[in-house]
Amino acid sequence: MRTSKRVQQIKPSATLALVARTAELRAAGRDILSFGAGEPDFPTPSNVRAAAARAMDEGKTRYTAVAGVIELRRAIAASYAPDGLTYDPGDVLVTSGAKHALFGALMALLDPGDRVVVPAPYWVSYPDMVKVAGGTPVIATCHQEDGFRLRPEELRRVGKGAKVLLFNGVSNPTGAVHSPADLAAIAEVCEELDLIVISDEIYERLVYDGAENSPFPAASDDAKNRTVLVSGVSKTFAMTGWRIGWALGPCDIIGGMRKLQSQSTSNACSVSQWAALEALTGPQDEIQAMVTAFQERRDRMVALLRAIDGIDVDTPHGAFYVLPRIDAFFGRREGIDNADTLAAALLDEAGVAVVPGTPFGAPNHIRLSYACAMDDIEAGMDRLATFLDSL
Ligand code: PMP
Ligand code: GLU
Repeated sequence: MRTSKRVQQIKPSATLALVARTAELRAAGRDILSFGAGEPDFPTPSNVRAAAARAMDEGKTRYTAVAGVIELRRAIAASYAPDGLTYDPGDVLVTSGAKHALFGALMALLDPGDRVVVPAPYWVSYPDMVKVAGGTPVIATCHQEDGFRLRPEELRRVGKGAKVLLFNGVSNPTGAVHSPADLAAIAEVCEELDLIVISDEIYERLVYDGAENSPFPAASDDAKNRTVLVSGVSKTFAMTGWRIGWALGPCDIIGGMRKLQSQSTSNACSVSQWAALEALTGPQDEIQAMVTAFQERRDRMVALLRAIDGIDVDTPHGAFYVLPRIDAFFGRREGIDNADTLAAALLDEAGVAVVPGTPFGAPNHIRLSYACAMDDIEAGMDRLATFLDSL
């Protein structure tokens, strides 16, 4: 049966495809060390799990308001007060994960052919989400020598006539963190070109080395008025399976997203909403411990990668990914001439799962997640070194 053109023009998520392939190989008895999935290996904090159990016992198991329970919307709005941002709970929409908030924002904003600036390397889902919503992605290139930060000149060059900038301040896959000065310069260009900004802040709390991070709308009053801020609990609170994200922003756009949600998912899972409330308002010490562990793992992974001749890698300051450049190995063996064939051979022959850079718009790189055990990092980088040496 023929599916819609809308569906035909997109690919399945490359990151989720790798998660499925890794599970398949493991089920078949293969020993796979995985650096593929971008999800914390920590359990969801115990106070959060207890809040979910309480919610179930108290019968909080029915439909909620489309926008989410008011207690959670208040807590989400309040969580941005330290950044100097004031949001009304009426301008908050709780969604089924940040991914769905991004999707809803694009669906609420785009008409056929509207252009959306996507800085590359980008998270795999951005271009396909834009296409499903009827838009056309236009790529702004970020360079390794700039720490993969978006340069205002590049935004100005590609952004003329575009409607939206899809911005990921702490970036998947590069781990780039934009300083307040970077954000202010980007915000000026957005004002000049009259771009609406969707700012994906899902890694907002995962920054290292004392790096300063503030959400994009905090850059200026104008930035706040033109931005839909998207985030959620998946990464910060090790809650990927609970599916809670959110969007905050101008009431027209949030209202449009709410209307779409009322006709699609209705509301995010009620029990998960109460768990997310506890995550935001309860004790935060487990979060600090996770951030410290991520920084140690990052340092170890980067040090081991640097020791491999031919790999070019910088230390990222945020998220939990490393994006080493590996094109020096292309062509060393027949059949391994790009990031896809290299990643496939690495998985098949060495049992190491990494995502090729190609679906991130980084064809000379591979992405490794360090949200995994330190022992796996040690053993995995050893296998990677042996494999690359054999080419
Ligand atoms: N944005 C980025 C950049 C991500 O890496 C992810 C990863 N899942 C998401 C959004 C979506 O997060 P969620 O699990 O809340 O849908
Ligand atoms: N965002 C994570 C990643 O990039 C999880 C998988 C997904 O949602 O794409 O690996």
